[in-house]
Amino acid sequence: MLTHPVFNKRLMARSSVLVTCALAALFLVQCSDGGGSAIFVMEPLPYSLDALAPTISADTMGFHYDKHYAGYVKKANELTKGKGFAGKTAEALIQATAGDASKAAVFNNAAQAWNHAYFFKCLKPDGGSAPEGLLAEMIDAAFGGFVEFKALFITAAKDQFGSGWVWLVLDEGKLAVVTSANADTPLAHGMIPLFTVDVWEHAYYLDYQNRRVDFVKSVLDNLANWDFVAAQLEKAQPPKV
Ligand code: MN
Repeated sequence: MLTHPVFNKRLMARSSVLVTCALAALFLVQCSDGGGSAIFVMEPLPYSLDALAPTISADTMGFHYDKHYAGYVKKANELTKGKGFAGKTAEALIQATAGDASKAAVFNNAAQAWNHAYFFKCLKPDGGSAPEGLLAEMIDAAFGGFVEFKALFITAAKDQFGSGWVWLVLDEGKLAVVTSANADTPLAHGMIPLFTVDVWEHAYYLDYQNRRVDFVKSVLDNLANWDFVAAQLEKAQPPKV
């Protein structure tokens, strides 16, 4: 049976009205929760879950991205919804709640959401080759060379007691290696994060059990995305005139 062309047009018109209404409703739901739309969104992985193997297995990435990271994003949004944080960026929210014991749960989940999104961007398949340009020059100046930097970073990872993060940061215009415990982040301490490795056990235990140093060394040698880090440095450090 052929459909009557007029009927067809009416149906299409009705469909487009329905689609418009549905989109408008979705927009209203997202924009009128009483406290603003969600501050944290799941950032897509810039590679597939199995792309970092064997340094980080697909199994570890699956749990890390889909369970741990997703959990922090969900919880951070639940805890901030309707609480007067509307319009704040994730970074501003983290800085505003840092050190406030009454907002520890907000800070912990918000900082973990931010730290994980940043960590995943610091990695890439077939990474690990030596940095170039300004980043390489600044690493040489601060640590005496790339090999020395890696040794310092690995030692910092080994010495971080319990869960936390190891970072390369820009601190008052100079590069430094620092660690942070649990959810803490250099963002909350006036430093600019450049590169990080997650040293919570969930980041490596399935693949390395207690061998944290082997995990961090393999990340540095095989996955570190120095192009991404160099781009962050360029953004943070205006070129010299
Ligand atoms: Mn983690």
